[in-house]
Parts: sequence; structure tokens; C-alpha cells
Amino acid sequence: MKITTVYDNEVTEEGLKADWGFSAFIESEGLSPILFDTGADGPTLLHNMRELGINPRDIGIIVISHAHGDHTGGLSAILKENETAELYIPSSFHLSATGRKVTIVKDAIQICQDVFSTGELGGVEQSLALKTGKGIFVVVGCSHPGVGDILRAASNFGKLYGIAGGFHGSRDFKAFDNLSLIYPCHCTQCKNEILNSFKDKAFKCGAGLEIEL
Ligand SMILES: [Zn+2]
Ligand SMILES: [Zn+2]
Repeated sequence: MKITTVYDNEVTEEGLKADWGFSAFIESEGLSPILFDTGADGPTLLHNMRELGINPRDIGIIVISHAHGDHTGGLSAILKENETAELYIPSSFHLSATGRKVTIVKDAIQICQDVFSTGELGGVEQSLALKTGKGIFVVVGCSHPGVGDILRAASNFGKLYGIAGGFHGSRDFKAFDNLSLIYPCHCTQCKNEILNSFKDKAFKCGAGLEIEL
């Protein structure tokens, strides 16, 4: 399984644009490619996808973590490019997408093989739990329900391995103790503290980052 960060507050590669928001592209053999969140701005998202060699038409499934504009702003641009992708959105996000398959997520569900949603936690946000050979890798948007609660929900799908995404203002560093890989991205307020506290397993995030699992 490969996760590519396509939209983030920072970049890891020249030629990509940094902007406040988050989006990640997830691909795996035999799996319909997934776009998790869409950043804040359509043209910026499409620019970064082009630079990274990702064709918006290849996306089979779009998952929106929560209703905030820095995660949903690029959605209409993607829907214009891609007429067939299915959507999985939390019930707190209101979207009219006629002629498309839209699944409204409240409880935990399986999205496709090896890909699960934690369900809409705290009535606001869903996260992805990816089943990999190394364990469960969790992809989060902003972690508004709290990193600890998200990891607890994701652990229902197997032994936890790692996490990537925005951790917002979380200071719940104990939640990371059992993880082997941590990428604090996007809105994480304590990026430097996390990178310094978990030197052997926490790494910088940014658009262009590729995580192979
Ligand atoms: Zn955000
Ligand atoms: Zn948010």
C-alpha cells in the first residue's frame, strides 16, 4: 500500500504548492485508488496531483474526513474531472452530488478490501484505518475528536502500526507510545515536540511525501 500526501501546509518536493489543508492519495494492488480529503483549493490540488503523476480520473473512491473547507474545498474541482468516483462522507457534511453513489457514514464501516472508516467520531469526523502487512495505519484529517479516541476506534480493526495527518492541538503524546510510525501533518500544533519526543519513529510531513507500507 502506498500513501502520497498531495496537499499539506508544507511541501517535501520542489514544484509542489503548500497551502493550509490536507489531502492524501492511497493506492494498493487490486484496490480502487482512494482520495482522502481534497485540500482547500481546487487548482492547487490539481496542480499537485499533476506534479505527482496522479490522474484525477483514476480515483475510484473519495473519502471526506469532515466538513471543514480546508478538507472539502477541492472536492468540486475533482468531481468535475472525475464523473464516476464514489463518495464516503460523514453525516455532518452536507453535499448534493446527483447521479453519484454517496455513502453517508455514521458508524464504523468497511469501504473496500483492507480499508475501513472509524465512523464519524464525536459527530464530526471520520478517519481511515488501512490494514497493511505491518498493522493498521491510520490516516486522519484534523483529529477534532482527539487522537486518542481515533486510535482507540481504529484499533478495533487490528494492531496499530502508524498514523499520518493533522493532529490539531493534541498533546496526548501517550497515544503515540504504541505506534511505530508517526507523521504529524497539516494543522498539528505540536509538530516539533512530536518530532523531538519520538525521534526514531516520527518524521516530517508535507505534500509529496510517500509512505510505502
Ligand atoms: Zn484541517
Ligand atoms: Zn478541521
